[in-house]
Amino acid sequence: MDDRQRLRYSRHLLLDEFGEEAQERLLASRVLVVGAGGLGSSALMFLAASGAGHITVADGDKVELTNLQRQIAHRVASIGENKAESAARTLAALNPDIEVVALPARLAADAIAAQVARADIVLDCSDNFATRYAVNRACVEAGKPLVSGAGIRFDGQVTVFDLRRADAACYNCLFAEEAEAEDVRCAVMGVFAPVVGIVGTLQAMEAIKLLAGVGESLAGRLLLCDALAGRFHEVRFARDPDCKVCASRHTNLVEPEAAHAS
Ligand SMILES: [Zn+2]
Repeated sequence: MDDRQRLRYSRHLLLDEFGEEAQERLLASRVLVVGAGGLGSSALMFLAASGAGHITVADGDKVELTNLQRQIAHRVASIGENKAESAARTLAALNPDIEVVALPARLAADAIAAQVARADIVLDCSDNFATRYAVNRACVEAGKPLVSGAGIRFDGQVTVFDLRRADAACYNCLFAEEAEAEDVRCAVMGVFAPVVGIVGTLQAMEAIKLLAGVGESLAGRLLLCDALAGRFHEVRFARDPDCKVCASRHTNLVEPEAAHAS
């Protein structure tokens, strides 16, 4: 870090639990953010401002007037523009220190896998189950930590699947794909603007902690926000040994005792 960076990130450097080494790790990190809507906007703003060094953001949608109620990375002048490109421009103005790459497309499964393989951490800020399951599958295969968030109406939820760890649950352990998974769209159901802001900010918080190597993550805990009641609560969850996505990765991990038994 140069002197100007030390000044920019000084409020992080002042934290005993954070400090210069954690900031250096954050600056060197590669983050993939899938979706530049409500969740992605808030997550991206904090990731960029706080110095996540290399950010790739993917989104195939264009900015619409109805998005501006909550998708704070976009501006009136961005209406009609691709969301990833619009967000990248906002982030560049916020922090020219960092590298931001915009992928202006809804990524297919193989493209998601390629991007996940290059990232240190992945934030699922998408709004549809097809993308969520594809991102999860790629993170399981590559063993990358996944920070998952969702928000609709007055309800938000956020958790971490730290797939670097052998005992980690995946998104499919928690929300199995064969369960009835019908996309619930903001366009139909409505969404209270600060909910996606809170969830996206929590996703950035968890990502920054994991990248910087500080604190305890939300791994194994689903944090739920009820904005209407002004309440948060958490639900613990564990790996599903019969999960169709991640169970096979565990059978490949031959433990010494199992090896002896056979
Ligand atoms: Zn699983």
